[in-house]
Amino acid sequence: MRIGAHVDPSDPLTAAADRRADAVQFFLSDPQGWKAPQPRTDADQLTSSDVDRYVHAPYVINVATSNNRIRIPSRKLLLSHATGARQVGAKGLIVHGGHVSRGDDAAVGFDNWRKAFAYAQDQGGFPVPVLIENTAGGENACARRFDALARLWDTIGEFGPGFCLDTCHAHAAGEELLGIVDRVKAITGRIDLIHANGSKDAFDSSRDRHENLQAGMIDPELIVAVIRSADAPVIVETPGGTDGQAADIAFLRDRLGQQDTAR
Ligand SMILES: [Zn+2]
Repeated sequence: MRIGAHVDPSDPLTAAADRRADAVQFFLSDPQGWKAPQPRTDADQLTSSDVDRYVHAPYVINVATSNNRIRIPSRKLLLSHATGARQVGAKGLIVHGGHVSRGDDAAVGFDNWRKAFAYAQDQGGFPVPVLIENTAGGENACARRFDALARLWDTIGEFGPGFCLDTCHAHAAGEELLGIVDRVKAITGRIDLIHANGSKDAFDSSRDRHENLQAGMIDPELIVAVIRSADAPVIVETPGGTDGQAADIAFLRDRLGQQDTAR
């Protein structure tokens, strides 16, 4: 099982080594901005590294929205980041499930997701797997509550989307972590990546504030159980910089009975 961290994009491989991580996730541009990724000078080093790479798409992307001034640039930006992710040999591009505006029918959001995949298919398809991540809050979200997730998958399942399960988001969203892997897989058929995060906030708080695994309001053993059950690669998106994330990775390795294979 590969265990890694979300790191600063400036030097992902050094960041991985510092954390004893065998996988990294990073942004290819400002996550709050609309810029397409620039070619990376370290693309060759990254693609030849035995550290697995994942790319997180910018937060501004919302392909579900009924606001076309956000939706149209979002699907274009998503495709450009997938292309950038391919250039670093990423195993996947993680993107949040998005939401419709207040008062809009959720079905519009699911159908907009379908349009985003159809648009990418017209352009030759996403060059890396797109992993849709469950989100923490909002009453109009496509991938917060699993009843909505099921409707989303009914609409886009034909495109074979991937899924990224974030433990903090599920907890904040009001989805019980006990048995969650089976509930997700009954909908998506797969979990491609786990975002293993503690939460600073209470169950069903809707708040997206990550915490270190042993410090938050989620029983750390429950996070371990989710990982064990999912048997998927793990990325921690936890605070505390190098030391905080290294401690979280070491905790998971210890609890999962794993050797430290990172170099
Ligand atoms: Zn996450």
